Amino acid sequence: MTWRATVLTLFPDMFPGPLGFSLAGRGLATGLWSLEARDIRDAATDRHRSVDDTPAGGGPGMVLRADVLARAIDAVPDLEGRPRLVMSPRGRPLTQARVAELAAGPGPVIVCGRFEGIDQRVIDARQLEEVSIGDYVLSGGEIAALTLIDACVRLLPGVMGKLESSTDESFSAGLLEYPQYTRPQLFEGLPIPEILLSGDHAKVAAWRRAEAEQLTQTRRPDLLAASRHPVCQKPPKNATDG
Ligand code: SAH
Repeated sequence: MTWRATVLTLFPDMFPGPLGFSLAGRGLATGLWSLEARDIRDAATDRHRSVDDTPAGGGPGMVLRADVLARAIDAVPDLEGRPRLVMSPRGRPLTQARVAELAAGPGPVIVCGRFEGIDQRVIDARQLEEVSIGDYVLSGGEIAALTLIDACVRLLPGVMGKLESSTDESFSAGLLEYPQYTRPQLFEGLPIPEILLSGDHAKVAAWRRAEAEQLTQTRRPDLLAASRHPVCQKPPKNATDG
C-alpha cells in the first residue's frame, strides 16, 4: 500500500496545488504516494448544504459544525489505523520528528478548518490530533495541510533524488544545516570557503559540523536544548496511534 494523504476541506480544488510540481508532483504522478481531497460539504444534509453556523455564546464569524464534520470523517473508507489530524493554531507545533513518524506510517487523514475554527466536540469525539505549523493564524487549514504533506512526501522512498539529502539537513540531527555554496567560485568578490574546495572529506565534514553548531547556537538555542532531551519532541501517546 503506498503512502496516502486524505484531506477533508471545503476547497478540494486547492489540492494537489503546489504538490503537483517538482519532486512531489513527479512522485504523485508515478504513484509513489497518493492524495485524496474530499469535500466536507458532501457531508451536509440540509437543503442549503450548510457546513457552519454562528458560535455558541456569541462572537464574530462562523464555526464548522460537529455533525457535518463527523459525517465527513466517518465517510473516509480507509480511516482505520491512520493518524487523524486537524490543522489548528492551537495544536502542537509540527516538528521534523513528527513529520518523519507520519511519513513512516500509512499516511494521515487531515481535517482543514475554516472561519473561526471547528466545533470542539468533533475534535474530542473523533480524537483528532491538533497540529500547528507555527505561531501565526492562517485563514484556513489547507495551506497548513499542504505544508505538512510536502514535508512528509519528500521523506518517502524514491521521491527525492539522493537519500543523503534528507538525512543531513536542518533538524534531522537537532541542528540547522551548514551553509551551502556552488559555482561560481567568486560571486561579487566573495569566494567559496577554501576548505570546501580542498577535497579533504574529513575536513569538510568537520567544518560543516562546526558551522551547523555555531548557526544553531546563535539562531535556535532551543533546538540544542531539545536535542539533549529528545523525548520533549514526541507527541502524546494517544496522538500517534489514532
Ligand atoms: N479562531 C481560531 C483561528 C481560526 S483560523 C483561533 O484563534 O485559534 C481558520 C483555520 O485555519 C483553523 O481552523 C485551522 O484549520 C487553520 N489554521 C490557521 N492557523 C493555523 C496554523 N498556524 N497552523 C495550522 N492550521 C492553522
